[in-house]
Amino acid sequence: MSKIKKTKIADLLKSEEFGKEVLVQGWVRTKRGNKQVVFITMNDGSGMNNIQIVADPAMFSEELLKSVTTGSSLSVYGTIAQSQGSGQTVEVMATEIIVHGLADADKYPLQPKKHSLEFLREIAHLRFRTNTFGAIARIRHNMIFAVHSFFNSKGFYNIHTPIITASDCEGAGEMFRVSTLNPKNPPLNEDGSVDWKQDFFARETSLTVSGQLEGELAAMAMSEIYTFGPTFRAENSNTTRHLAEFWMIEPEMAFYELEDNMNLAEEFLKYLIKYALDHCADDLRFLSDRLIEEERNKPQSERSMELIEKLKFVLDNDFARITYTEAVDILMKSKPQKEGKFQYQVKGFGTDLQSEHERYLVEKHFKKPVILTDYPKEIKSFYMKQNDDGLTVRAMDILFPGIGEIIGGSQREENLEKLETRMDELGMEKESLWWYLDTRRFGTVPHAGFGLGFERLMLFVTGMGNIRDVIPFPRTPKTAEF
Ligand code: ATP
Ligand code: MN
Repeated sequence: MSKIKKTKIADLLKSEEFGKEVLVQGWVRTKRGNKQVVFITMNDGSGMNNIQIVADPAMFSEELLKSVTTGSSLSVYGTIAQSQGSGQTVEVMATEIIVHGLADADKYPLQPKKHSLEFLREIAHLRFRTNTFGAIARIRHNMIFAVHSFFNSKGFYNIHTPIITASDCEGAGEMFRVSTLNPKNPPLNEDGSVDWKQDFFARETSLTVSGQLEGELAAMAMSEIYTFGPTFRAENSNTTRHLAEFWMIEPEMAFYELEDNMNLAEEFLKYLIKYALDHCADDLRFLSDRLIEEERNKPQSERSMELIEKLKFVLDNDFARITYTEAVDILMKSKPQKEGKFQYQVKGFGTDLQSEHERYLVEKHFKKPVILTDYPKEIKSFYMKQNDDGLTVRAMDILFPGIGEIIGGSQREENLEKLETRMDELGMEKESLWWYLDTRRFGTVPHAGFGLGFERLMLFVTGMGNIRDVIPFPRTPKTAEF
């Protein structure tokens, strides 16, 4: 057999070069047939659709055809033919089949039937081979690409901020310690506490919860930057929206005020959603059908909007923009508040809004994404710009249907004195953040930024219900096997 270059199945399915010799490589999804003809469907991850291989049993040994089972891996040489069957236009008439890896049909965990998402999480090493996770992996890739493409087109620079850090950025959550000390017998100070000076970095270090503070340093010279890195939070919240390890996109812009920040965030989210619609049509269609099937037994009123319709809806509508104080007013007057239906009652100004409140605003009241601004300073981080009212800060959270908070951001306090006063009020140690405060000492400017949780975006775009299902290897309390 002459050496032919392999063709990806996605490209092959679009090809109309009937009679051309090709090489297809991938994994078997199904095999069926009889003494006259055998049909093998294969997938190589390049797209949602499989290629059908047609093999004449007279041309292959019985043993070889027997070893072709669901999950086995093949190289198939053959010619492109117009398909006789319905649903596809192209198939391959096999001339040579090489089986690379057998897959014991009785033991292969993925049978050609519907498996629960929970079961698939337990076989994360094989779930890439399902239609659902293939679609999610491809959409994830497209969204990563779109993030870089958006910022690159706007002249933002991508900055790598550290993963190991000595600063608890904002008390954003519990941190994972990084240490090389022997946990059984750590060196101790005289008072019995651990002597971190003898640790690898000669100080206490952790995995980062956000790249923002370092991002601000870069923005104070490069003007417009973004980070896109892994973040780690040891919060023991076993929800469908929290991971212990997730990816975050954090742009930071010099000379931006809150309004500019909101405009950028809305444009960014719409760009990403449009990119998905333009580049992931097959995968979105599959996920949409999956969702409809899943919700078939729910009453009409509880079903979510069709996935593609929902994505278009967000594109076509301006996000609502209201202050936190206005939002609290709406919630206080709301039906679930009056009827005691909220798990956490809203207690007026100062209440830290829960996801049930956020979702009420988005799904019931405004029926579209909402940007909430000007939160009480007590429930937000020290670095947010203080409003003249002395009560609120220039924070903005973007709330999405089905998700709640997807973006958290703010204009930053650029005034050194105000920033230090706030840190004192909170009892923060200013010395260890000297490098951050220096940006306010030397050429400070108004600036702003935000953080988009990449997996929250993925939840929205794919319509999946659990954040564990939109990342290949989820890290959550008590799970990190693979
Ligand atoms: P939440 O209130 O939902 O826990 P947060 O206020 O802790 O969010 P930020 O610290 O503002 O969130 O982080 C910025 C963004 O990172 C959030 O808007 C969200 O999209 C995402 N995010 C935060 N925590 C997690 C997590 N544990 N897993 C996945 N994404 C997260
Ligand atoms: Mn949180």
